[in-house]
Amino acid sequence: MATSNAVHFWLRDAAQVMADHSAELNELDRAIGDGDHGSNMSRGLESALTIPIDAELLPKDALKQVGMALVSTVGGASGPLFGTFFLRVGQYWESPPTTDSIARAVRAGVDAVMSRGKAVEGDKTMVDALAPAAASLEDSALRQLPLVEALALGAQAAADGAQSTLDMVARRGRASYLGERSAGHLDPGAISSSLILASAARHIG
Ligand code: ADP
Ligand code: MG
Repeated sequence: MATSNAVHFWLRDAAQVMADHSAELNELDRAIGDGDHGSNMSRGLESALTIPIDAELLPKDALKQVGMALVSTVGGASGPLFGTFFLRVGQYWESPPTTDSIARAVRAGVDAVMSRGKAVEGDKTMVDALAPAAASLEDSALRQLPLVEALALGAQAAADGAQSTLDMVARRGRASYLGERSAGHLDPGAISSSLILASAARHIG
C-alpha cells in the first residue's frame, strides 16, 4: 500500500499506539526517570489522530505537522528529539517511498537526533532502537529488498535494540542521574521508538 495515504495511516496509528501504551511507558519511565514518557508521547502525537486521510495533505507535510507538534507540545527531552526525527524524515520523504529513500530518511532522522541529543549507541536512549533500524534499512537497500520486507526487518532491529537497553547503564537524559542503578530496566524512549517503527512496518510498503 505505497500510496501517499499510507503515511497518514501510519501517523494516526502511531498516535493510537502511544495512547494505548501510555501507562506502560510511564511505568518504564517511573523506574529510571520521572514517569511521564507515555503521557509525553501520547500528548505529542495526539494531533496525529485527526490527520485527514486525503491526498490534500502531502505525506511530507503530515510528517512535518507531527514533528512540529512534538517539538512544541512536549516539555520533556523526548518531544524535541522525536520531533526532530519526524521533521527530518519529512524533509527526506519521497513519494512513493522506496527502500532506498526510506533508508536515507531514517538515517537522516537518526543523525539529527544524535546531533541534537549527543547520545551514541550504548547510552541507553531512543538511539539504541533508531540507529539499528537505520542500519538495517541501509543493509536492505544494498540488498535491494522490497519495502515491506525492509520495514519489517527495520522494525525487528528496533525492537531488538530496545530490548538491548535492559542491561545498559544510562549516559544521557534523566536516567543517567541513576548511574549504575539504571541497569536492569528498559529505556522507555527506545521502546516507544520501536513501537513507532512497528507501526510504520504495518502501514507502509
Ligand atoms: P524526560 O526525560 O524529560 O522526562 P521523557 O520521559 O519523555 O522525557 O523521555 C525520556 C526518553 O528520552 C529516554 O527514555 C530516552 O530514550 C530519551 N532521551 C533522553 N535524553 C536523550 C538524549 N540526550 N538523546 C537521545 N535520547 C534521549
Ligand atoms: Mg520522563
